[in-house]
Amino acid sequence: MINRRIFIIFAKIYTLMETIQVKDKRFAVSIPEEKIKAEVKRVAEEINRDYEGKEPVFLAVLNGSFIFAADLLREVTLPCEISFVRLASYQGVSTTGEIREIMGLNMDITGRPVIIVEDIVDTGLTMAHMLDTLKKHNPASIDICTLLLKPGKLQVNLDVRYCAMRIPNDFIVGYGLDYDGFGRNTKDIYTLINME
Ligand code: 5GP
Repeated sequence: MINRRIFIIFAKIYTLMETIQVKDKRFAVSIPEEKIKAEVKRVAEEINRDYEGKEPVFLAVLNGSFIFAADLLREVTLPCEISFVRLASYQGVSTTGEIREIMGLNMDITGRPVIIVEDIVDTGLTMAHMLDTLKKHNPASIDICTLLLKPGKLQVNLDVRYCAMRIPNDFIVGYGLDYDGFGRNTKDIYTLINME
């Protein structure tokens, strides 16, 4: 009897939540559009203030950051350039067995202030590697600007200067982020519903 009541309560909560299906998984809204907009604007204002008098180069990491980069850049009032880069993985001779190379960096960033635009920092390994690689191009400075950060998952000491939102360790989709290639085209951000 009690079990049945608990089941009905959970079923009601579940149907009240705004959920979406992406392939074989169900996700519930965790960050609504209005909140994302406000936090993206706040981060852009911080950049406008900190980079006053400079002409930064934004390097947006594809694919996940394409919506964030588009919204962020429209709030940036500085004279700036943007380039879209991609991190390509291939098996090679390294300690981890995987080398990630930056593709599409088709401009000279020597002596330029660079701001990396990333969708999400999880373990931080991707950004740590990207920093190392970019430093070889001798930019004047490099800052990381991420839409999301999972502080509970960080494995490296990473200086994330700009972060729109900190989130728990759950898997999320939407607003550019995907699950198996799908789910990028939503205005809100969704969290995986753990059905177990
Ligand atoms: P890291 O190297 O920091 O562990 O991983 C960063 C990359 O992992 C992100 O650029 C993103 O592609 C992917 N990632 C990490 N967490 C999530 C998540 O919750 N959802 C999605 N869609 N991708 C994630």
